[in-house]
Amino acid sequence: MLDDNCLFCKIIRGEVPSDKVYEDETMLVFKDIEPKAKVHMLAILKNHFKLLSDADMDEQKSAEVLYMLMKIPEVARANGCEKGFRIIANQGEDAGQSVFHLHFHIMGGETLPW
Ligand code: 5GP
Ligand code: ZN
Repeated sequence: MLDDNCLFCKIIRGEVPSDKVYEDETMLVFKDIEPKAKVHMLAILKNHFKLLSDADMDEQKSAEVLYMLMKIPEVARANGCEKGFRIIANQGEDAGQSVFHLHFHIMGGETLPW
């Protein structure tokens, strides 16, 4: 289920262009438009929901989140993160979440500062 007003849903529908690096029936990985590391990609599900704590996070959606997490290492390795990577999920205001469609940042391609 997609949300008409959501930027990442528009990317999924192809209404907003993106530099895709991986896609299947469940998820999409594309390059962040403002990279904060040498490699900076965003992994999203094709189902729209805002947060890990979404009230409608049912078993099906939980399974999709786990599927995406398990797929990320393969996608990262194939896209410049052979030596490791970092996954970040900003959740809510204090974390600075700016797009409210659940996403995991995948960062690497260099030694990351902590
Ligand atoms: P958040 O701050 O919500 O955790 O992350 C949102 C991310 O989406 C930011 O890193 C930002 O650079 C990225 N972003 C925002 N708009 C676009 C866009 O139109 N295309 C792409 N590829 N990334 C975007
Ligand atoms: Zn969305």
